[in-house]
Amino acid sequence: MHTPLCGHSVGEPEEYAAAAQARGLKGIVVTCHNPLPGGISQSVRMAPEQWDEYLTMVARARQAWAGRVDVRLGLEADFWPGLEPFLESQLASAEFHHVLGSVHPHMEFYRRKYLHGDIVAFHKTYFEHLALAAESRLFDTLSHPDLVKNEEPGAWSARLLMPDIERALDRIATAGTAMELNTSGALKSLPEMNPGPLILKAMAARNIPVVIGADAHTPRRVADRYEGALDLLEAAGYNEVFVTIDRKRHAVSIARARASLQPVATSTWEALLQNARLAMGAARAKVGALGR
Ligand SMILES: [Zn+2]
Ligand SMILES: [Zn+2]
Repeated sequence: MHTPLCGHSVGEPEEYAAAAQARGLKGIVVTCHNPLPGGISQSVRMAPEQWDEYLTMVARARQAWAGRVDVRLGLEADFWPGLEPFLESQLASAEFHHVLGSVHPHMEFYRRKYLHGDIVAFHKTYFEHLALAAESRLFDTLSHPDLVKNEEPGAWSARLLMPDIERALDRIATAGTAMELNTSGALKSLPEMNPGPLILKAMAARNIPVVIGADAHTPRRVADRYEGALDLLEAAGYNEVFVTIDRKRHAVSIARARASLQPVATSTWEALLQNARLAMGAARAKVGALGR
């Protein structure tokens, strides 16, 4: 989940925590987009000088929700080959609980660098980069790991690409990196979760651990479609799902995960988030008063 610092997300971490509590989650990891060198894709991520503000924002929510929802610091970090030294020092500069490695094929910088007319070749390059991201050992989890299918969905075929995808999955399995099942794919131009069922099955055959994420850019999407994601995982052959804390994975049975999820009626969201905002305002006013 994200924060307002990336410029395309709404809601403070406290509101996401309130949504998580309503959905029955014990904890959340905030994973906003990392700053990149040279101002690359600056319009959709925090600026380098907002780094401390990010750490403080998550720490503040962690404190406010202690004992109710376990709020932890994470990061969604972009990857392309050559960025490793930058990422290494960035990731060492704070204590993260869950680091997502993301190849973002819609990003202008990435397209300019790797798309040279042949879209199928571009689809293949994406999976090569996922494998390299895993082999960099910088990340706990590869996020939305077939996002590239939204780049000219008409030309996308998981079936035809499978030999390339399977080679990448073999390398990811060897590296021991988890992969995400990202439910926001259902809202994209090729409307299925990332990854789709064929890839999920190939991941299950290699025992690649899966972490479910909603990629929420608004508190209302916290744990969105998790029930459906658990069904897909089970259909692919999985019987457990993982959560990551302190950069270590913990298994949860699908049955237990399913039992913990609470439905939230659309009509209750507004009141719920309003309460979270009020509580946050009151807490800030108190801090202000103490500081006087
Ligand atoms: Zn985003
Ligand atoms: Zn992403």
